[in-house]
Amino acid sequence: PYDVLVVGGGPAGASAAIYAARKGIRTGVAAERFGGQVLDTNAIENFTSIRETDGPKFAQALEEHVKDYDVDIMNLQRAVKLVPAGEKGGLNEVQFASGASLRAKTLILSTGARWREMDVPGEAEYRNKGVAYCPHCDGPLFKGKRVAVIGGGNSGVEAAIDLAGIVAHVTLIEYDSQLRADDVLQRKLRSLKNVDVITSALTSEVKGDGKKVTGLTYKDRNSSEFHSLDLEGIFVQIGLLPNSDWLKGTVELSPRGEIIVDSRGATSLPGVFAAGDVTTVPYKQIVVATGDGAKAALSAFDHLIRTSAP
Ligand code: FAD
Repeated sequence: PYDVLVVGGGPAGASAAIYAARKGIRTGVAAERFGGQVLDTNAIENFTSIRETDGPKFAQALEEHVKDYDVDIMNLQRAVKLVPAGEKGGLNEVQFASGASLRAKTLILSTGARWREMDVPGEAEYRNKGVAYCPHCDGPLFKGKRVAVIGGGNSGVEAAIDLAGIVAHVTLIEYDSQLRADDVLQRKLRSLKNVDVITSALTSEVKGDGKKVTGLTYKDRNSSEFHSLDLEGIFVQIGLLPNSDWLKGTVELSPRGEIIVDSRGATSLPGVFAAGDVTTVPYKQIVVATGDGAKAALSAFDHLIRTSAP
C-alpha cells in the first residue's frame, strides 16, 4: 500500500505528490487526465515567477517535475469510489472505473472542478477564442473590447464589475427575471456606466467568423424574440462544478458539492486530505491549488508520523 495516494493530477495533485515524495514516503498519483484543467488553457500569465506560459506547456512541466521523484503515476484512471479505513491507522481504498483498486494510509483528494457550460451552438468551437470562463485569468486579454458576462449570480456580477474596469463595455445576461447576486454587488454593478444588464434572456448562440467570437444571440423570454449583440468576448459564469460525485456519502461535502477542508487541508475523515478546486477553498486558481496541494501533503506526512507504528 501507499503511504500517500493522491487522486487527481492537476496543479494541486502534482504539487502534493512532489511534497509527499520529498519526505521519502511511498507516493502514488492516480488521475483521469494528468495535467487537469490547465490542459484546456491558452495563456497563463498569473503564476508567480512565470511571466507567461501556455496550458499544455505548464501541464507538461508539472508532469516532468513529478517524474523527477520516485512517484508512481497512474494516468487514465477514474476513481469511482472511496472506502475509508475502518479503524485508526487502517488503510483507505480507492476503486477505479477500470476495476483496479489501490490502498493507502493517507489520501489526498484533488479531483478539481469543471465550469458549467451553456451548451449552445458555437460555445465549444470558440472556447479560448473569445469564450472564456475565468475573468481573473482572461480578463486582461479583452482590454478595451466589448464583452458579455453570462450569469447574474455572485460570480457573474463580480466578474462584470471586475471586467468593467478593464474592458470597454460589459453586457450582463441573466436567464431569470432578476439578478441573484447579493444586493451590495448589484448596487455596485448598477453604478457602473459601462455596464448594461439584460434579464429574462436565454443565450442561444455564440457567433464568430471562424477564428474568433463576433457576438451572441439571445432569446427574450418574455417576447420570445431573438436579439443579437456584437462583442468580442463572452465570460460564462453559470457555475463551477466540483468533481466530487464519486465521494458522495463518504467525506463531508458542502451544499455545492465541494469537499469541506480546514486550514490544513483535512477533511471530515481522519487521514484523508484534499486540495485545489474540488474543495471549499475560495478563489479557484493554479497558484492557490499548488499551495494547497503542498499543504495537504505536509498534513498527510504529519498524520503519518503521529499514527504509524515506529
Ligand atoms: P484540476 O486542474 O481540475 O485537476 C483535477 C485532476 O483530477 C485532473 O487530473 C483530472 O483528470 C482528475 N480527476 C477528476 N476527476 C477524477 C476522478 N474521478 N478520478 C481520478 N482523477 C480525476 N488558473 C490560473 O491560475 N490562471 C489561469 O490563467 C487560468 N486559466 C484557466 C483557463 C481555463 C479555460 C480553465 C478551465 C481554468 C483556468 N484556470 C486558471 C483555473 C485553474 O486551471 C484551476 O484553478 C486549477 O487547474 C485547479 O487545479 P486542481 O489540481 O485543483 O484541479
